[in-house]
Amino acid sequence: MSASRRFLLENRIDNESEIELSGEQFNHAKSVLRLGVGAEIVLLDGSGREYTAIITVIGKHSLTAHITGFADGGKEAATPVYLLCGALKGDKTELVVQKAVELGVSKIGVFNSKYCSAFMNGGAKLERLNKVAREATKQCLRSVAPEVVYFDNFELALASCGEYKNRLFACEFADHSDVDMREITGPSALIVGSEGGFAEEEFALAKDKYGFKGVTLGKRILRAETAAIAFTSIVMFLLGEMG
Ligand code: SAM
Repeated sequence: MSASRRFLLENRIDNESEIELSGEQFNHAKSVLRLGVGAEIVLLDGSGREYTAIITVIGKHSLTAHITGFADGGKEAATPVYLLCGALKGDKTELVVQKAVELGVSKIGVFNSKYCSAFMNGGAKLERLNKVAREATKQCLRSVAPEVVYFDNFELALASCGEYKNRLFACEFADHSDVDMREITGPSALIVGSEGGFAEEEFALAKDKYGFKGVTLGKRILRAETAAIAFTSIVMFLLGEMG
């Protein structure tokens, strides 16, 4: 079924057989897609399952759909990958979020750091990034939308990676990689800086206190968005997600 007929729910489907869609989702179904009674849709509840449902009632402000079955979506990466990227100028953070979702990451962090010059806060911009993640999730037929979180403090971003076996830090001034990426297995957290890059003390903090390994992405300096997308792609490939 086309990506546009996929609807992300805020709550898990438990034993319900009827689901109501309202607000933006309802407007999209009724006014944009012009779906009517009898149309089939797919409901995604964040569990990884895809529920098929038939619209049974279309009201003024909501619609009701009857669940007819479910299956495992089968599109989620087997290994969790968490991408953290410095806040970027313009709409580049949105680009990174969209591509990271397509590449299969399970979570995205955006952080402020010493040389970061983009304005970001935890409000409207963060909500916008989560909307981009949800749209990308539907478009690439995933069934779980990765959450986008924001850290105003770089150290909090580093601390959020504690549960990941591999903690990899793309550092533009590293002259070698501390780890052979071809050998990584298991949950991985990836850090990429903003346009301004990292301060030496931020790299040292990540390595000494939070167990990150420095990684070079080669002898050319990549734009931040290129680095984030390339780094994620390399790791996804090495984890067997792109072969
Ligand atoms: N302002 C920095 C400079 O002048 O050197 C460049 C920062 S770069 C545009 C943004 C981020 O991309 C870096 O902080 C790093 O995480 C990543 N990056 C870019 N090129 C890289 C490379 N060759 N190796 C490792 N990381 C790289």
